[in-house]
Amino acid sequence: MPIVNVTEQLAMQILQDSEIYDLLKCKCEQCISDVLAMTLNRLPARYVTTDAGRVFVNVNYYLQPQLQSDIVTELTRSALQVANHPHHAQTSKAADTQ
Ligand SMILES: [Zn+2]
Repeated sequence: MPIVNVTEQLAMQILQDSEIYDLLKCKCEQCISDVLAMTLNRLPARYVTTDAGRVFVNVNYYLQPQLQSDIVTELTRSALQVANHPHHAQTSKAADTQ
């Protein structure tokens, strides 16, 4: 049975839906992935099982204010870090600055 990291799902969702996204000067795939990787390395993984492609998440994970607050804190820290020190050249033509 496949497993899914709830912390990862939440982090992706929060990054896309919050103003943390606006902290990123560059929103290319690499910068987004860097922010998520940095964030997830600093947070405990929370695995749940899935069935037939559907994620059955214990709703308590989504309602845990502490977990959400930890994710927001780490996402913010990672976003600022990546914004100031992107892993690619800042003048890269590949960077989507819009
Ligand atoms: Zn970038």
